[in-house]
Amino acid sequence: MPTAAVARYWDSLPDQCPCGAPSACIHHIIHVNGQRITKDDWLVMKLCLACHVGKKGVHGLGGERQFLAETGWDLVQLATLNRHNFEVRAR
Ligand SMILES: [Zn+2]
Ligand SMILES: [Zn+2]
Repeated sequence: MPTAAVARYWDSLPDQCPCGAPSACIHHIIHVNGQRITKDDWLVMKLCLACHVGKKGVHGLGGERQFLAETGWDLVQLATLNRHNFEVRAR
């Protein structure tokens, strides 16, 4: 269960997957620069089911780097941008 602050953050995220489909789930970024990171509720992307857990999704392909190579969408950068926008709006 996310905390209230995390729930507010997740609510603020774009409800669209990078592919254009409505997003259905939260993906926690797994790797940054090929290195596994600790699961972070503040470094996430809303994805559609196919892009999340489908055969050509980030979990099906094995990680963000493979997903970037397949689709051209850098989930780590997009998640960082979401976080940046949220922080800047709160200032
Ligand atoms: Zn995920
Ligand atoms: Zn998608």
